[in-house]
Amino acid sequence: MSENKQITVTSPLLPDLEEFNTLLKEIWESKWITNNGSFHQRLEKELASYLGVPYLSLFTNGTLPLITALQALRITGEVITTPYSFVATTHSLWWNGIKPVFVDIDPANGNIDPHKIEAAITPKTTAIMPVHVYGNPCDTVAIQNIADKYGLKVIYDAAHAFGVKVNGKSILNAGDMSTLSFHATKTYNTIEGGALICHDEKTKQRIDYLKNFGFAGETEVIAPGINSKMDEMRSAYGLLNLRQVDHAIEERHKVADQYRKELIDVPGISFFAERHDVKYNYSYFPIFVDADKYGMTRDELYFKMREQNILGRRYFYPLISDFSTYRSLPSAAPSNLPVATRMADQVICLPMHHTLSSEDVERVINCIKQ
Ligand SMILES: *Cc1c(COP(=O)(O)O)cnc(C)c1O
Repeated sequence: MSENKQITVTSPLLPDLEEFNTLLKEIWESKWITNNGSFHQRLEKELASYLGVPYLSLFTNGTLPLITALQALRITGEVITTPYSFVATTHSLWWNGIKPVFVDIDPANGNIDPHKIEAAITPKTTAIMPVHVYGNPCDTVAIQNIADKYGLKVIYDAAHAFGVKVNGKSILNAGDMSTLSFHATKTYNTIEGGALICHDEKTKQRIDYLKNFGFAGETEVIAPGINSKMDEMRSAYGLLNLRQVDHAIEERHKVADQYRKELIDVPGISFFAERHDVKYNYSYFPIFVDADKYGMTRDELYFKMREQNILGRRYFYPLISDFSTYRSLPSAAPSNLPVATRMADQVICLPMHHTLSSEDVERVINCIKQ
């Protein structure tokens, strides 16, 4: 029967229930359940220190920090972004009345191609919103050079990049702001949750006003803010998960190494090369299926895996630019996005989480090799 055990694409990192219960009792006794309570304050501090960033504000999910970052920086007009991401990236622009302008991606890492950004800049462009997709670091130096040349802001959607470092330094300090998601499916989770990272105290103050309706005091509202506060229960849960996230990342690392080692020789299956200067978080393991060389299309492999009770995910397919909301934008034309279009048609994210055994991984590999 174990042959048929379902292998899921992801599995949430859960804190020890007893320990969580102890913290819940503390919260019950204090009767302080939300609004910048002590667990919220502790989690903000511990996350900032763990991640190596000076200023971090907790949010109730990973979409509201994107929307709030655009508000905090007063971004308007057009923003250059990637179509190869989760829809929340582009939705955050739309919710701010900003026109998304899609730029193609680099096949080496799936991130926005800096060489193609300048051609998309118009007098209305005010910012660039790249994504460190799958936790692969963007070329932050090239992007910053363009931003400086044209006076643009840069907001990184770093939802996949929890703990990722280049040359020992956090990539979350790049650009003007970076956002994180702590959704259940991510490497580190608070069930639902997120954060916004900035580089100075004044900006953090403004972000904290904005995430609390714009309240700057009991009777003072300084901006049309939103409610995006994280509660005490999820902050406590997050503190416990922070203690075990390194172990979870090590387990993911083992899974990634096994995939790499055994899939390297499969004709028509490719995956991203690892950079030696990067500390990854192994949040995803995307493979790309070249149907001519592999002898089967991506969808055929995807459904064959499902028949064997192995759940991969076609992530990111369709491209954001292919959804009905966005496909009438001039920059959404597939002819403008050939690399992203090809990658979206070839990708499968293989099962990747901290509870996969080497036998589970072997089953996935055998299914692909058969
Ligand atoms: C998960 C994710 C988000 C949104 O996060 P939520 O916490 O689900 O709101 C944003 N961008 C990307 C790239 C994501 O993967």
